Amino acid sequence: MKNIPCLDLKDQHQQVKKEVFEAFEKVYEQTAFSGGPFVEAFEKAFATYTGVNHCIGVSNGTTALHLAMLALGIGPGDEVIIPANTFIATAWGVSHAGATPVFVDCDETWNIDPKKIEAAINPKTKAVIGVHLYGQPFDIDAVNAICQKHGIFMVEDAAQAQGARYKGQTVGGFGEMACYSYYPGKNLGACGEAGGLTTNHEKYEKHLRSLRNHGSTLRYFHDEIGYNYRMGGLEGASLSVKLKYLEGWNNRRREIATRYRNEIKNPKITLQAKPDWADGINHLFVVTVENKEAFVEHLASHHISAAYHYPVPCHLQKAYTHLGYKKGDCPVAEYLAEHCVSLPMFAELSDEQVQTVIDALNTY
Ligand SMILES: *Cc1c(COP(=O)(O)O)cnc(C)c1O
Repeated sequence: MKNIPCLDLKDQHQQVKKEVFEAFEKVYEQTAFSGGPFVEAFEKAFATYTGVNHCIGVSNGTTALHLAMLALGIGPGDEVIIPANTFIATAWGVSHAGATPVFVDCDETWNIDPKKIEAAINPKTKAVIGVHLYGQPFDIDAVNAICQKHGIFMVEDAAQAQGARYKGQTVGGFGEMACYSYYPGKNLGACGEAGGLTTNHEKYEKHLRSLRNHGSTLRYFHDEIGYNYRMGGLEGASLSVKLKYLEGWNNRRREIATRYRNEIKNPKITLQAKPDWADGINHLFVVTVENKEAFVEHLASHHISAAYHYPVPCHLQKAYTHLGYKKGDCPVAEYLAEHCVSLPMFAELSDEQVQTVIDALNTY
């Protein structure tokens, strides 16, 4: 029997291959390889899709987070609050800017716990980066209220959430700005490495465009120390093609997730709590079980692949030992790290494969 992979990008890329290759040909003919018209076209299309004023394409999601910090004037001596349960790159953006990430625990939604944010705020705190993890929005209103009360910035890390909705509105325009990754494995992924930012604020838009391009608005005149964080033309062209399919792919993931939610009926398995206001895009479908190794073996015996997102919470990563965190500081994130298993989740899973996964979970 053929194995059911956790994620398989092949079918999706066969679907769009002809269109993407035609787009590549245009980039090639125009030699528009770095930034340029194909990146601009994608920026416009993604801003429209997200319902925000501006989108700025960059080289990847990590550089988007770095630029977000720089555009907000965050640097050495500053602190930025982020969830302990996220992909590590959320923290890299803060560290690359010379600031210090402060890790806050999650709640039963496995996103940042708004009730735990205030205790982490002090005069050095400049911002909170909320992460729409696994594609499910965090409680934006609750986090925004705290940020407003304390006069600090709110930034969205929407790397896993292109097209997710919070209280009916697409995420990406709620804070000062939002950061995206278009890494191939994300719901909207480039044929290559890419990232972006969205914002409704013109002042950030202009600054971000300059920062990503050597601190320059006029060629060979550099107003500040900048970066080469541009998006490539081939990446932009592939993203424009794939964006047209995103809503359909997201809806298929929603359908699969709804089946998992309704049909997995095994008390040994815990799902991510999903508040009514959260309409996620199911980038990942994570569950927790007491003995994850035994569970993954059981899945393997049914020809089902699984993965762990993420096995070590950020505050306990070796890279951040110098910050002095210890086990017990973020107990919910730590429990999750030790017990999380990601089930197969991508738009091209067949109904039959979904049924196989559900049956295997219910017989565990
Ligand atoms: C993927 C991801 C990033 C980083 O994006 P890259 O394009 O891989 O640099 C940042 N934050 C989150 C939550 C991610 O999932």
